[in-house]
Amino acid sequence: MSSNIVILGAGYGGLLTAINIRKFINKEQAQVTVINQYPTHQLITELHRLAARSISEQAIAMPLEKLFKGKDINLKIAKVESFSVDQKEVKLSDGSSLTYDVLVVALGSKTAYFGIPGLEENSMVLKSAEDANKVYSHIEERISEYATTKNEADATILIGGGGLTGVELVGEIADIMPSLTAKYGVDPKEVKLLLVEAGPKILPVLSDALIERATESLKSRGVQFLTGLPVTNVDGNVVDLKDGQKIVANTFVWTGGVQGNPLVGQSGLEVNRGRATVNEYLQSTSHSDVFVVGDSAVLFGPDGRPYAPTAQYAWQMGEQTGYNIYAYLEDKSLKEFSPVNSGTLASLGRKDAVASIGSNSIPLKGFPASAMKEASHIRYVSHIKAMYSLAY
Ligand code: NAD
Repeated sequence: MSSNIVILGAGYGGLLTAINIRKFINKEQAQVTVINQYPTHQLITELHRLAARSISEQAIAMPLEKLFKGKDINLKIAKVESFSVDQKEVKLSDGSSLTYDVLVVALGSKTAYFGIPGLEENSMVLKSAEDANKVYSHIEERISEYATTKNEADATILIGGGGLTGVELVGEIADIMPSLTAKYGVDPKEVKLLLVEAGPKILPVLSDALIERATESLKSRGVQFLTGLPVTNVDGNVVDLKDGQKIVANTFVWTGGVQGNPLVGQSGLEVNRGRATVNEYLQSTSHSDVFVVGDSAVLFGPDGRPYAPTAQYAWQMGEQTGYNIYAYLEDKSLKEFSPVNSGTLASLGRKDAVASIGSNSIPLKGFPASAMKEASHIRYVSHIKAMYSLAY
């Protein structure tokens, strides 16, 4: 009898699950349906480049229809409104609902606001191509406005959070400032590009030597760092920091962290801080007919710490789940997930990067790190057979 597999989300985890399933299960054995809110697969690790127009949208948002062509995958573009793992039901924004034999939850994460008053209402984020386009248009608009008004707030750009997202974004913005200010006849020295970080240092996942290298590189292009200073309140364009400072910025992008998708917490799945707990086969610890991949899942490594919510793990989880669903349906042994950590690559704008490669944390900086980052992008698009995106 044919099974019904439903995959929620077509980010790294969901896409790779769908593609890999079809290597083991044909359309007579199972129907595969993927639900995604956008018609594209978006490379969210590259959004900072779109936010500075260093890359075009087609390069990082690939039509799902094209990626699934010839794979017998049903694609439905809709938002998941809710799902219940006890009732085995998924409700969609278009009013329809679906049931399943096997469910894959790959709904990613949401921006975390930590209950900071005014933050969500008064900041932009970088979670989709739409968000990235909005950041770019907003910055351009403010710089153009500044040219006539000389209102300092229009020339103040604040990034909240000095993790990888915030640092990669500030690097790209720093690189476009000379041409953007020239376009509107603004003196680039009048633009304030600030990054505020609650912790004592930016990029805490990297070694001190690489952090210093990243800081110097960005400072030389005009970025000012405010470290050890949590954002405590936001009121309109006024951002309060813990020491009492107030920053008046008409551009404020919040990259202060991520949290599990709330739909996962409401689904009846067992969760830990809003992310579904899974066993070594990536099956929900409470519902064996539900697999959870990427940022929606929390999986603890041998050291007892959760794996970071990164694209490289989401990708590997998706591949593994593609096989494990086949094994689950055919009553074969499932494979344990044993992720490979290829390291951390942080771009610092168009021409610079720092990286810590592999399990030995080999440090790289400058061109070799930038080349590695580009190679990792090419490796991914080649893997999903989307090399055409490199033409954009
Ligand atoms: P993050 O949680 O890694 O970083 C957020 C930063 O914001 C932290 O340094 C935190 O101290 C700071 N922060 C939190 N509250 C604050 C406050 N009130 N005021 C000021 N600063 C505050 O989030 P991220 O950078 O979005 O990354 C999320 C995940 O995605 C991570 O696992 C990361 O490794 C991964 N990621 C990887 C890449 C890459 O590999 N190049 C790029 C982007 C994201």
